[in-house]
Amino acid sequence: MMKEQISIVDMFKIGIGPSSSHTLGPWRAAQRFAAGLAQRGILMDTESVKILLYGSLAKTGIGHGTDIAVLLGLSGDDPVTFPVDDVQSKADRIKQHRLLLLGGTHEIPFEYAADLMLLYAESLPFHPNAVTFQALLAGGKAISETYYSIGGGFVVQEGNEAQVTEEVDLPFPVQSAHDLLGWCIRTGLSISELVLENEQAWRPEAETNERVRQLFTVIRTCIYRGCHTEGTLPGGLGVARRAHQLNKKLMAGRTYHDYDSWIAAIRAGGNRFPYILDWVSCFALAVNEENAAFGRVVTAPTNGAAGVIPAVLHYFIAFHDGLDEAKIRQFIAVASEIGSIFKKGATISAAMGGCQAEIGVSAAMAAGALAECLGGSQRQVLMAAEIAMEHHLGLTCDPIGGLVQIPCIERNTMGAVKAITAAQLALQSNPDKAKVSLDTVVKTMWETAQDMHVKYKETADGGLAVQLPLSLPEC
Ligand code: SF4
Repeated sequence: MMKEQISIVDMFKIGIGPSSSHTLGPWRAAQRFAAGLAQRGILMDTESVKILLYGSLAKTGIGHGTDIAVLLGLSGDDPVTFPVDDVQSKADRIKQHRLLLLGGTHEIPFEYAADLMLLYAESLPFHPNAVTFQALLAGGKAISETYYSIGGGFVVQEGNEAQVTEEVDLPFPVQSAHDLLGWCIRTGLSISELVLENEQAWRPEAETNERVRQLFTVIRTCIYRGCHTEGTLPGGLGVARRAHQLNKKLMAGRTYHDYDSWIAAIRAGGNRFPYILDWVSCFALAVNEENAAFGRVVTAPTNGAAGVIPAVLHYFIAFHDGLDEAKIRQFIAVASEIGSIFKKGATISAAMGGCQAEIGVSAAMAAGALAECLGGSQRQVLMAAEIAMEHHLGLTCDPIGGLVQIPCIERNTMGAVKAITAAQLALQSNPDKAKVSLDTVVKTMWETAQDMHVKYKETADGGLAVQLPLSLPEC
């Protein structure tokens, strides 16, 4: 595994659903390709562009919106700011008019059926999520660039695969849970304090605080919108949104007018176990229904698993008085570090490791974060993360129709509940007596990933994905 440095803002990215590896990553790759043409002064000489999607991007790309993402990326649109309600209609316009405004400035002909190629049988050796962009220039010259979407919205270019994130000199470099605990013991810092010290190597503290504020704004907007939107999800499966109904039922007539009064009304409903459990499910459903509907989400660490961390964070906010900027920052910082340890020692890409790499990792991140926010020691935080992953090992990725809906949406509710249980178990345990360390479970997850058959790695060729005979309309 390569040495990586991953900051909070690398781990948690603002993007558009439904998939970080199949939507956000390819979108960013397309943006980079178009921007590169502009930087080299050849954008206006470009006469046509072809897009080649390989491996997993071909097999589940249509269901995951990869085609839409690359069209918008080539058009110079940004997934952080692009209006979510216009995603589908803009892609439709490009297809219908057969024209693409490359980089937002230069119009070229674009024939969707011919210029976007799904190479189902081809996979490139570095990573199953590969996309090649080919530009044909006036005069006959051609430019070709290949990018790999390696999970969680991270993208690397062929020839520069080791350059994942910006390199800085960290005061407390961490590659493993062992390193992390070592630094905590030597400094006396909590995990979140150590992470936030490291963040200062990337940017001033005030800027990090602002970035976390922005992340939380997206999370709360997404969860609130998901709880207040009815209808059927796009893609052809006919999956009905459920968070809206559940929210209404749980509110039982209590009134509210915005996010803050909504949280207060949730709290006013009491703290019976079934009530809390239903809310955790509702929070997770809300985020992943938004994600499936091309809504704006935060990769946590991926889009398919984007509901686990917001659901556990909102469990903390609503039922442990956690609506406080410093506490939310603490939660996000710990979750980020746990996710980084999995990315460095294993993978957060379902195309590499199945769903254990998405829901499993997000549950571990949430469990560790919750454990620290509820007063757990550093060892208890690591134990909570270990427990959460231990019970996701071997989880396969088998999305029906290649859509991030079944089993993905409900799977986030399961991940959230397991994360809370893992945190509680760790808080009630002596971590010195734990038999399995976090590093051991990271290693086990990676070995399991390598043994897992490719049909369970975001290909929709196995598991639930082949149990339902479906013929989905083209997106
Ligand atoms: S099954 Fe899991 S890993 Fe696969 S797309 Fe769904 S949430 Fe992501």
